[in-house]
Amino acid sequence: MTGVNKTKKRTEYTAEDAAGIGGSRLENLPEPLLIWFGEHARVLPWRERPLPYYVWVSEIMLQQTRVEAVKPFFARFTQALPDVASLAVCQEERLLKLWEGLGYYNRVRNMQKAAQLVMENYGGELPASYSALLGLPGIGSYTAGAIASIAYGKKVPAVDGNVLRVISRITGDAQDVMKQSVKRQYEDRLREIMPEEAPGVFNQALMELGATVCLPNGAPECERCPVKDRCYAKAHDCQMELPVKAPKKARRVEKRTVLVIRDSERALIRKRPSKGLLAGLYELPNLEGWLKQREALDYARDCGFRPIRIMPLPDAKHIFSHVEWQMTGYMVQVEDAEDFSGSIFIEPARTEREYPIPAAFSAYVKYLSIRLGQEKYEKGSEMEIIESVLFEKKIAEEE
Ligand code: SF4
Repeated sequence: MTGVNKTKKRTEYTAEDAAGIGGSRLENLPEPLLIWFGEHARVLPWRERPLPYYVWVSEIMLQQTRVEAVKPFFARFTQALPDVASLAVCQEERLLKLWEGLGYYNRVRNMQKAAQLVMENYGGELPASYSALLGLPGIGSYTAGAIASIAYGKKVPAVDGNVLRVISRITGDAQDVMKQSVKRQYEDRLREIMPEEAPGVFNQALMELGATVCLPNGAPECERCPVKDRCYAKAHDCQMELPVKAPKKARRVEKRTVLVIRDSERALIRKRPSKGLLAGLYELPNLEGWLKQREALDYARDCGFRPIRIMPLPDAKHIFSHVEWQMTGYMVQVEDAEDFSGSIFIEPARTEREYPIPAAFSAYVKYLSIRLGQEKYEKGSEMEIIESVLFEKKIAEEE
């Protein structure tokens, strides 16, 4: 096994003899790194043709999702919107639909704003200048560095979490890598050592090392690492202690109840407000707190529906950057009904084609196309009916 032995007692990490990122451990780093990358680089769709637009789209997607998961999203997105011009004019709901499953919808909205500026100011070609890229919505120092170096060969660093981890381990640097000032130090140091002739390859090699060998959570595979001979963390067996990160603020927890309200053929969805969390997307009706079955039925009645049946659905959780939803749910079958105040009844297949519903609801979206009352649930499956009673009968019993 090449990974770190987690059971081994570790020496207390001290930065005493680590010279930090200013020391000599980063000197001559490019050579072994580039040789290793040449032999081990993964074949990725956006690497085959590193067009500026492809690098941009892939880097924004990769900010939130693993490489393997991004591949189909990247293929779908670039097939539908092959260039800056098509992104700039894409109708919003189609755009959000193409982003569905990736989350962080503001990122694709910002991409569209940036594409419109690129059409206006740069003739439809993403600029090559790092500072011009930084001026576009949604493009920060990492993405600007990636586009400028990989697509245009500019000598600018692209420092993401992978790079911070690799560099802090090689150098034994104990500064808090979550600080912007520390990130800037890393960028400055890398700018000094990166090779003129291959800055984009160097940046990708560092990212690749972090993504495939110098793994997070104390599981680096040091024996496979091309820079193991110079690595402070390996020499001192303190991979688990680096990088140093100040603890994050705890997320706010919100309890919510999600309702799958269906009539004979259609399900109810509604549009979220144009500002705030998941702005402008469609959602399943949901309320604050964990409702009891009776309260869920009352809500449906208050909306003007005549509920026929109700079934509890499994609990689910979704984590946003600052908030965590802890959800419970019910499927409520109602008599055929009309749309009301911002909510619409639609055939379930149309949500797949037309209406972007965020991944936060994915645990419940699958129930859109299941009919209550059908006795086809397989025994022991998660679809097992916990309780399914005629509403009127139940009310009569309770009263
Ligand atoms: S030797 Fe281990 S800890 Fe050091 S950079 Fe390589 S993989 Fe990371």
